[in-house]
Amino acid sequence: MLVLKFGGTSVGNTQAFAQTAEIIARARQKDPNVVVVTSAMSGVTNILIHAARSAAAGHEQPYREARSDLLLKHQLVAGQLIEDGVERAAYGRLIDERLRSFERLCQSIFVLGELTTRGLDVVSGVGERMAAPLLSAVLRANGVDSEWVDAAEIVVTDAAYGAASPLMEPTCARTNARLRPLLEQGKVPVITGFVAATANGIATTLGRGGSDYSAAILGACLDADEVQIWTDVDGVLTTDPRIVATAETLPELSYIEAAELAYFGAKVLHPKTILPAIEASIPIRVANTFNPDGPSTLVVPEVDDAGSVKAITAIRHLSLVNVEGRGMIGVPGIAARTFKAVAEVDANVLMISQSSSEQSICFAVPESDSAAVIEALEEELSQELQRHFIDRVRAHHNIVIVAVVGSGMRGTPGIAGKVFSALGEAEINVIALSQGSSEVNISLVVSEEDADEAVRRIHGAFFNQAD
Ligand code: ASP
Ligand code: MG
Repeated sequence: MLVLKFGGTSVGNTQAFAQTAEIIARARQKDPNVVVVTSAMSGVTNILIHAARSAAAGHEQPYREARSDLLLKHQLVAGQLIEDGVERAAYGRLIDERLRSFERLCQSIFVLGELTTRGLDVVSGVGERMAAPLLSAVLRANGVDSEWVDAAEIVVTDAAYGAASPLMEPTCARTNARLRPLLEQGKVPVITGFVAATANGIATTLGRGGSDYSAAILGACLDADEVQIWTDVDGVLTTDPRIVATAETLPELSYIEAAELAYFGAKVLHPKTILPAIEASIPIRVANTFNPDGPSTLVVPEVDDAGSVKAITAIRHLSLVNVEGRGMIGVPGIAARTFKAVAEVDANVLMISQSSSEQSICFAVPESDSAAVIEALEEELSQELQRHFIDRVRAHHNIVIVAVVGSGMRGTPGIAGKVFSALGEAEINVIALSQGSSEVNISLVVSEEDADEAVRRIHGAFFNQAD
């Protein structure tokens, strides 16, 4: 059993649909049981959300335009890939009805002047509900028997609108009951990614980019041999190819490494979304729809490659916040209060480092949160600041975390040395650094203007020296 998920660009236009249909047909020659999950056509979810938000703000134009633009976008593909007139007309009716109800929804949002997260889930799921029936019809036009399934029928979630979590037991029961018979009839089920419903049938979504999550959930329920994420890049690369042209695809990656890379900004799988597959030990392949015979990355429970660095990422637009002062030495609770204040303003802390002399704590947060963080800290620590136990709280802007990731670094001496000599040779100043005790990554803070060069130098030290 294979679960194949196609992202927005893989169903972005006529040519992409054709390519995707071909990949599905080929997968089926390898394994008769293929289940497909699809995202909305690229850009569609954004258009839908923008239309709903604009309606709530009193603007009708965006949803009116969205209706006609989206009709055209889908009809164009249908017109070019579905030859059978009856099929084409059936899809035409479906999409027309879908967009009509989208317009009605936006109309009521406009009248109420209010958009709830529950309402937004209904609107934002329209894209997948137009893409899945289209992909299914395109498959049939290509001689692959297929039926589309609305995930609201099978994926059961809690009621956390906007980012719901699956309830695996009922989901698996419904998934097997609904999809197994289709597979037995020789059909390829095409399921809407991203969308789901509560046990009472109220529409939910799994959060932006949630189609990967759908695929992992279904893969786990069906005990798939592999979940394949088809996207528009050759799997997971050693670094961003825009910075290092010779970046290479990693053939294999462990779950932990994939999670670290995602955390540090690489465009890979989001750890939360692949969790169901991880828990079921199902390997996940990341492959390129537009280069299907090219390299791909297999993400597996564990890999055995001692000593190796896997990838280097850069996460940008951060600020480094420093809490400094000699009065902090040996005073318990400052760190706890610092991070409590940070948590209260909902800022995401990407990395923490404290010097062992305890004279400073520094941590990285998104630049957009830094003003709120500083304000919260000045309030929380006002007494210590007044008494000069803490000298100051300040933020360094325009900083970047460069993360060097690889579980083979664990227990391997010399890796940090190699990283720092590469940076030293280029006279790049390291502002702060941190290594998690899991030793799966070393993260360094450098200034924005040094970031690309830092990535290039470190990449050059561990991979091809051509750059
Ligand atoms: N279409 C949804 C989004 O854009 C889900 C996905 O693409 O995975 O967030
Ligand atoms: Mg997407």
